[in-house]
Amino acid sequence: ISNNVGFIGLGNMGAKMASHLIKKGRKVKVYDVSKSAAQSIQGAQICNSPKEAAEDNSIVITMLPDGEIVKEVLQTENGILKGIKKNSLFIDCSTIEPKSAQELAKISKKNSIRFLDAPVSGGVTGAAAATLTFMVGGDAKDVEEAKPYLLQAGAKVFHCGDYGAGQVAKLCNNLILAATMVATAESLNMGTKLGLDPKVLTDIVNVSTGRSWTSETYNPYPGIVKNIPPANNYEGGFMVKLVAKDLGLAENAALQCNAPVPMTALSHQLYRTLISQGFGDKDFAYIYQFLKGVN
Ligand code: NAD
Repeated sequence: ISNNVGFIGLGNMGAKMASHLIKKGRKVKVYDVSKSAAQSIQGAQICNSPKEAAEDNSIVITMLPDGEIVKEVLQTENGILKGIKKNSLFIDCSTIEPKSAQELAKISKKNSIRFLDAPVSGGVTGAAAATLTFMVGGDAKDVEEAKPYLLQAGAKVFHCGDYGAGQVAKLCNNLILAATMVATAESLNMGTKLGLDPKVLTDIVNVSTGRSWTSETYNPYPGIVKNIPPANNYEGGFMVKLVAKDLGLAENAALQCNAPVPMTALSHQLYRTLISQGFGDKDFAYIYQFLKGVN
């Protein structure tokens, strides 16, 4: 078994994750529909199809926008299944519906490969610093085999249960993240409109009971935290369209088990409104600008 990795999907997250694997000594074959995304990865072997990226590797990782795309990349002509060796490990790190992850596991089994759902938390800053948390669903032995790879791109690996369980954990995390981002943004907007300095308000919140990752590490007010998307015109982060996708998936999952998710419903609708207003590609902290309005 080789040490090589096939990596498909080199966007805001995948590019950073693949680069860590390369820096830490892996040979990585990459594929992305966007040629420039693939070419941005220094030291990678650039491939022309998912099939080619999957060939001659023991591990193939995908980091793609959604479940439909992951399925397509797996099964299409020149897809992963056409190139991957039997018994290899296919690890999907995208955030997708738990049911889709279970389908991917079935398709994998039929084709004699092993599957793990391994979505991540930590955002683009966590990806850049290799401090991501992986939430993994699947067979315990496969999780152990994946760990040395995942821990080169992240800091923590949790085995959550059977196929799809990693995605359940991820959706549970992200519904908190989205609601907290909205609350942090509305607090900053109200405080500054009433005359507070946003930096002073943030310093207070960060040592008080309102503190969260969105106040401290990923504050939506531009420039309060350096080197994050809000300091860069809300570019290059966790796109509004992707957080809205996750909230929709969380709502579907909640329906299946009759769990009320009122905060998720509200934050979902807010983020969908941002999409309809043309802000789908902005970082999700843009909710601050949206609430602030033009005045
Ligand atoms: P992104 O849109 O920046 O990257 C996705 C990449 O996939 C792009 O480079 C795109 O060209 C490529 N792609 C799309 N269709 C493809 C296809 N058919 N074949 C090959 N490549 C294709 O998204 P991202 O922010 O990197 O997020 C990726 C996944 O990780 C999503 O599921 C997202 O929800 C999740 N996630 C994102 C963050 C974040 O902060 N950005 C954090 C945790 C999890």
